[in-house]
Amino acid sequence: PVAIFWFRRDLRLPDNAGLYHALKGGTPVLPLFIFDTDILDKLPDTHDPRVQFIHDTITELARSLQQAGSGLLVKKGQPRAVFADLMQNLKIAAVYTNHDYEPYAEQRDTEIRNLLAAENISFHTFKDQVIFEKNEVVKPDGKPYTVFTPYKKRWFLTLNNFYVQSYPTEQYFKNLVGTAPFPLPTLAEIGFKPTSIRFPGKIAPEAIIKTYDQTRDYPAQSGTSRLSLHLRFGTISIRETVRLAQRLNSTWLNELIWRDFYHMILYHFPQVAIQAFKPAYNHIPWRNNEDEFAHWCAGTTGYPLVDAGMRELNATGFMHNRVRMVVASFLCKHLLIDWRWGEAYFAGKLLDYDLAANNGGWQWAAGSGCDAAPYFRVFNPSAQIQKFDRQKLYVQHWVPEWESSNYNKPLVNHELARKRAINTYKEALATF
Ligand code: FAD
Repeated sequence: PVAIFWFRRDLRLPDNAGLYHALKGGTPVLPLFIFDTDILDKLPDTHDPRVQFIHDTITELARSLQQAGSGLLVKKGQPRAVFADLMQNLKIAAVYTNHDYEPYAEQRDTEIRNLLAAENISFHTFKDQVIFEKNEVVKPDGKPYTVFTPYKKRWFLTLNNFYVQSYPTEQYFKNLVGTAPFPLPTLAEIGFKPTSIRFPGKIAPEAIIKTYDQTRDYPAQSGTSRLSLHLRFGTISIRETVRLAQRLNSTWLNELIWRDFYHMILYHFPQVAIQAFKPAYNHIPWRNNEDEFAHWCAGTTGYPLVDAGMRELNATGFMHNRVRMVVASFLCKHLLIDWRWGEAYFAGKLLDYDLAANNGGWQWAAGSGCDAAPYFRVFNPSAQIQKFDRQKLYVQHWVPEWESSNYNKPLVNHELARKRAINTYKEALATF
C-alpha cells in the first residue's frame, strides 16, 4: 500500500506540513499533483502564465523528488475522477494534503473525503498556508474578528515559536515511494502555451525587506518583496517568511498578518466571494458602463497613475499595492462600476491572484468589506502621483505619452466623479 500526498497550493518539499505528516505516517508516500480541469477550463485563455508557473514548478519538484529516489505522479482531470481511477489501480492506505480555504476547494475536498471514505481510505488534512487558520485566532466569545487591529493583537498574543517552526520533511525522505521518475505532461499536453512574462524570484530580498516601511509605497522603487506569487503557490513557506519578517521588519510582518486575516475572513464568511461583506453595499446602483470599463482595463482612462497601473498589470501580471488601491478605488468610485467586475479582471491577470486577498482588497476599495475604507474617502489619482510618484518615474515608464497631446482626455472629471460617488453611496446606504 501507499499513502498519497496531494500537492495543491504548497508546491515545495521543504517545510511542508502535510507532506511532513504523510512521511511520518509510516506508509511509503507517493507524491501527486493534479492539473484540475475544473479550474483550468475556466481560465480566460491558453496563454495563462500561471499555468506555466505551475508547470515549471512541478518540473522542478519532480527533479528534486528524483534526487531523493522518488517521483511525482502528475495527472490532468477532475480530482474526483483522478482519485476514482487511482483507487482502482493502486492500493491506497491514506491521502494527505494541506488545507485550502476557498469555497470551491472546500467543496472539492469534501467530495474527495467522501469518495475515499467509501473505501475506508482516510483523508488527512493540515494547516500549511497560513500561520493561524479557522478558529485559532477569534474573539474571547469565540466569534471571528472582522476588524484588523484587534485581530492582529490577538494574533500576536496567540503566537509562539511552535507556529513558525519549520517541518523538517527532509529527515523523512527515505519514506517516499522508491520509483523511477514518472513521465511529466508537457505544457502543450495540458492545453496551454508558453508565456513571455518573467516570474519574480523566490529568494527573499533581505535588503528590500529591511527598509520596507520606508519604501513600500513608491511604485517606481523596488521597495516590496515581490514574493506574492510564491506565497500564493506555496513555493515558499509562510513560516519561514514570518520568521524573516520577525527578524527584519515589523511593517512587513503586518502585511503577512493581513494575509492571514483575509484567509480567515473568507473561511468564516464565504459569501464575500460573491457579495458585499456589508449587506447594504449590495444595493449601490452601479453605472456599469462597459465602454468606461474597457478604458479602465486597457489603461486609457486619461488618469496617468490609473493607466500606468493597468498597463503594468496587463504587461507583467503584477501591480504595485499602492497602485492596486488607486485603480480599484477609481473603478468603484469614479466610474461607479461594480467592484466584482474589477475583482474578476484582476483574477484573470494577477500572477499572485488569490481569492481571499483579492476579494479583501476590492471590498476594501469599494468600502463594502470588513474594516474597509469609509465610502466617502475617494482617492484623488492625481494627488496620489504627487505623494507617491513625485518624479513621475513610474507614470513615465508605463504611460510615456502622458504629457503629450496624444494622451487620452480624462474619462471623468475628478471633482464631479467624487461628488457623484459620495452621493450615490450615501443615498443607497441611507435606504438600506
Ligand atoms: P509585499 O508588500 O512585499 O508584502 C508581502 C506579502 O504580504 C505579499 O507577498 C502578500 O502575500 C502579503 N500581502 C501584502 N499585502 C497584502 C494585503 N493587503 N492583503 C493580503 N496579503 C497581503 N495580494 C495577493 O497576494 N493576491 C491578490 O490577488 C491581491 N489582490 C489585491 C487586490 C487589490 C484591489 C488590492 C488593493 C490588493 C491586493 N493584494 C493581493 C494585496 C497586495 O497588493 C499584494 O499582496 C502585494 O502588492 C504583492 O506584492 P509583494 O509580494 O511585493 O508584497
